[in-house]
Amino acid sequence: REPKNKMPTYKGLDNFKLLDKMGDGAFSNVYKAVDLTTEQTVAVKVVRKFELNASQRANILKEVQIMRGTNHPSIVKLISFSEAPEYYFLVMELMEGGELFHQIVKLTYFSENLARHVILQVAQGIRYLHEERGVVHRDIKPENLLFERIPIIPSKSAVQRPYDEEKEDEGEFIPGVGGGGIGRIKIADFGLSKVIWNEETMTPCGTVGYTAPEIVKDERYSQSVDMWALGCVLYTLLCGFPPFYDESINVLTEKVARGYYTFLSPWWDDVSHSGMIFDFLSKMRLLTSRPAKDLIQHLLCVDPAQRYTIDEFLAHPWCTAAPAPPPVPS
Ligand code: ADP
Ligand code: MG
Repeated sequence: REPKNKMPTYKGLDNFKLLDKMGDGAFSNVYKAVDLTTEQTVAVKVVRKFELNASQRANILKEVQIMRGTNHPSIVKLISFSEAPEYYFLVMELMEGGELFHQIVKLTYFSENLARHVILQVAQGIRYLHEERGVVHRDIKPENLLFERIPIIPSKSAVQRPYDEEKEDEGEFIPGVGGGGIGRIKIADFGLSKVIWNEETMTPCGTVGYTAPEIVKDERYSQSVDMWALGCVLYTLLCGFPPFYDESINVLTEKVARGYYTFLSPWWDDVSHSGMIFDFLSKMRLLTSRPAKDLIQHLLCVDPAQRYTIDEFLAHPWCTAAPAPPPVPS
């Protein structure tokens, strides 16, 4: 067995020094590495090409193609791509802070302000993919959302229950408060993503004028899978567990198919919702006025035609609400 800190070497990747393992997948390892020519610190995804069949190889090339075609602050950038007989190498910008998944595990759950800060960046990335590139990501989840820098754990009060608006976001999590914030969060892993536009003309695939409604709709519907996933991520951020879960895969599938989830008490009792009593209480400043539950309901909606699009999402009051001001230092 190799010692833990001994990094492997790969034929065809001579110009990089591997420093650390950042993550892995079924056919790949992702390393923090230094480009020895530019001295730039990067992430290298090493894909074991020899384990892949022809269609899996084609998918990697598609992943590369899609990443090459994107340029947005909420999308992980591909710096270069190369291949050796046995491997593919995807050199990317390094997301030193790692997965959103680990931060949820670490913090139990996020305050509404922090969740908004994170989810709006993800949503801007999705808006760019859906509306400017015609790309559906198809694998939006906390493991594929990465922090640029290592987040600083906020003070205990920011994660205390019950939800206390006064104490929300105390600590150093929000940029500008305390130690410089958490940097950006970006969307990674285009391994399952799909272009639904003609890549040359940047119009929907097929001749639009003759396309049947169900195909036109299908394109819109395929984008809606990302909106469902965004709803799942938002739900998970706000309470610390996913909306759909069961130990049995059959039961889980059934729950998802029916859109069966609940705002489980007591975890959701303090998260903002909407309704008359709520409006009254929020006017009296007894509750926060950001209807997070309403937004989630419009995302975790079984009929894709009813589900919010990314523009509807971004226009929702929960998204447009100004964050509570940082606490005044005493
Ligand atoms: P897979 O298709 O196998 O899921 P990913 O592209 O999602 O591959 O990469 C696997 C893991 O590697 C991610 O979940 C993340 O932890 C880490 N990772 C991927 N890209 C980067 C990056 N650019 N910077 C830092 N870590 C990364
Ligand atoms: Mg992944």
